Amino acid sequence: MKAVIVNQNGTNQLELVEHPIPKAKEGELLIKVHTAAINRTDIVTREGKSGYLTNPILGVEVAGTIVEINGKSSFSVGDRVMGLVNGGGYAEYATMPINRAMKIPENFTFEEAAAIPEVFLTAYQTLFWIGKLQKQESVLIHAGASGVGTAAIQLAKKLCDAKVIVTAGSKRKLDFCKELGADVVINYKEQSFEEEVQKATNGFGVDVILDFIGAEYWQKNFESIKKGGRWVLIGILGGSEIEKVNLMGLMSKYIQLTGTLLTPRSDEYKAQLTKEFIENVTPYFERKEIRPIVDTMFPLEKAREAQQYMEESRNIGKIILKVNE
Ligand code: NAP
Repeated sequence: MKAVIVNQNGTNQLELVEHPIPKAKEGELLIKVHTAAINRTDIVTREGKSGYLTNPILGVEVAGTIVEINGKSSFSVGDRVMGLVNGGGYAEYATMPINRAMKIPENFTFEEAAAIPEVFLTAYQTLFWIGKLQKQESVLIHAGASGVGTAAIQLAKKLCDAKVIVTAGSKRKLDFCKELGADVVINYKEQSFEEEVQKATNGFGVDVILDFIGAEYWQKNFESIKKGGRWVLIGILGGSEIEKVNLMGLMSKYIQLTGTLLTPRSDEYKAQLTKEFIENVTPYFERKEIRPIVDTMFPLEKAREAQQYMEESRNIGKIILKVNE
């Protein structure tokens, strides 16, 4: 089969190679991949900085059809499924634990399906499992037009009727966030987001922050969070090291600060997250009240260009790789 791996000679480039079709172990499905999607974690792996994926083939999510089932399952060969894989997504075939596969809602294409697993599961996990977002609370979502951001806006709005405040770097992105349901949109390049958050919350700050930025936003996030707020660190697009941290501030505001990464979590964790997500979110997909956001598509052969497009922050929502028709 065709697959994309990181070039072995240290250039951090990608290479399209012929690779053996993987074998479905006990408890796994073999999937003919129709579409995969690009994630920032793939870029980190390409750069040799992740260290938590051992599969030489890139890619953590796919959508496709089942060609083989090894173990007990309610699925049949030929079913359309999507879900997280332990690497191996940028390829014509991939294996996936049975308990992590999600049936693709009938109204969705493979392109739309591949836009769901990583960002929607991340948004669900961080808003509800870790951020403990409650009905009608407020949430500040940075990088609102990102893959995770566009999923989080919709989930926070539909499942919690939350007050959703987002930041993004252009009018085009902010208009899109508004269309998705965001209540307050802030252009972080032109406005001081911590001041805008204070205005939007009567000076209290938000209950939950989804923070993709890290170091660059440390102080501003601290000023934007309510007493007793939950601050979930999911990304370090703005750096990972902070020169000065006033720990007294964290204590006196009773802040809960949690960091998380989905990719290195255990198979059991991902299976449980997937199960709960199917129960609570699939009906919204079927009723078209929540939708995956596809920005653009690239053929598998152009995986490097697709990553470049993400690195240039050009996308709203997901970048899809088309693998098989
Ligand atoms: P994405 O679609 O590539 O979007 C990221 C957006 O962030 C960019 O388009 C850009 O939009 C904004 N951005 C980039 N650098 C920035 C900076 N220095 N300051 C402010 N904004 C910046 O990303 P994604 O796939 O949704 O992922 C979003 C973040 O979540 C990434 O950091 C990713 O690593 C992380 N993530 C974490 C987990 C986890 O389990 N912890 C799982 C999935 C993703 P603007 O034009 O608005 O600046």
